[in-house]
Amino acid sequence: MNHKKFPYAGFNSAAIHAGHEKDPKYSHLTPVYAASTFVFDTAEQGMKRFSGQEEGFIYSRWGNPTFAEVEQKIAALETWGHAGLTAKAFLCASGMGAISALLLSTLKKGDKVLTHYSLYGGTQDMIESVLPDLGIEAIIVDLKDLQKAEDAFKNNKDIALLYLETPANPTLQCVDLAALTALAHQYGVRVACDNTFATPYLQQPFSFGVDFIVHSTTKFLNGHGTAIGGAFLGRDTEFMQSKAYRIYKNLGANGNPFDAFLLNNGMKTLPLRMDKHCSNAATIAEYLNKHPKIGKVNYCGLPGHPDFSLAQKQMKHAGAVLSFELKAGFEGGKKMMDQLKMCTRAVSLGTCDTLLCHPASMTHFSVPKEKKEAYGITDGLIRMSVGIEDVNDILNDLEQAIN
Ligand SMILES: *Cc1c(COP(=O)(O)O)cnc(C)c1O
Repeated sequence: MNHKKFPYAGFNSAAIHAGHEKDPKYSHLTPVYAASTFVFDTAEQGMKRFSGQEEGFIYSRWGNPTFAEVEQKIAALETWGHAGLTAKAFLCASGMGAISALLLSTLKKGDKVLTHYSLYGGTQDMIESVLPDLGIEAIIVDLKDLQKAEDAFKNNKDIALLYLETPANPTLQCVDLAALTALAHQYGVRVACDNTFATPYLQQPFSFGVDFIVHSTTKFLNGHGTAIGGAFLGRDTEFMQSKAYRIYKNLGANGNPFDAFLLNNGMKTLPLRMDKHCSNAATIAEYLNKHPKIGKVNYCGLPGHPDFSLAQKQMKHAGAVLSFELKAGFEGGKKMMDQLKMCTRAVSLGTCDTLLCHPASMTHFSVPKEKKEAYGITDGLIRMSVGIEDVNDILNDLEQAIN
């Protein structure tokens, strides 16, 4: 039998086959390698594995066969369609595990990180409250204004990382990956992007020159809400295998084999799911946009969104997360949440089922009003992760819940 890799070309085929190696026991799927440690035939072999002369697993915090398939699959999808692009990925315990490994690998005492407003809450907390204690300062500016970005680079020679997240919560603000990356590189600064909302199916930051990508695989990549996980990827494989690997290993940021197995299966249907998530989201955004009880819809696929044309330029589709403001405010938001019959009341995003949350009464309940407003979180704001149910059922549920 010929086991040579068949040269598949499509994204769907890559999502299914990339990273897969024939299992020595002929299991169709790569099993859950529930093993903390791996065996050496001889002391000589142990020596070779430790010195890197022989490939092979040693200890699961350092790598595991079930993780390896997932890591190769994510790297293949993030570089897919771009000849010459290569990347190395590490599977992490969570999105925050991946972000922590990235920040600690790329920043040191005295460095600064340049970023923008409305980052994921955990990332913002890391950058604003944890890094300063390590002597790493954050500069936060409106990066939609390229002049402000340029001024920041000019005035701060110690910026070592530009950290981007696009699209971002809760207003679906986008930043220009190509323009900001080109600018950062002029100043010798490396660029990282959180690609959780878009996934590589909709947006490939490496193709715009971005150096590092982080994911919360908990969301669309897993797709079924079955596990917390993350991924940390870099284009500079030399750096990933040395400094970044040392941090990843010693931080204990690794994933676990069972969650890796779930993620691997989830990713096989990524493109299929994303097509449905996205077409449902576009239909729902248009419906909400015309609804008399709704003031504003934040969805970068609507022509009225400030980043509509940017999203069209750098994304294949605007994605499946949106938010909208109920004119009835805080009480209206709570009432709508209580009246949902099919859609799920929960935080998080990217699962097959539609998830809705009301930040003012949930995630941001204890945040002071001025701060909430600065983030764009008004009392009647609802965030929605559009699922892959039949769109008419989602529309009917929203219609009866809003009224
Ligand atoms: C959820 C999320 C994270 C954090 O991921 P966890 O898996 O919860 O640690 C980071 N970035 C974005 C954009 C997210 O949505």
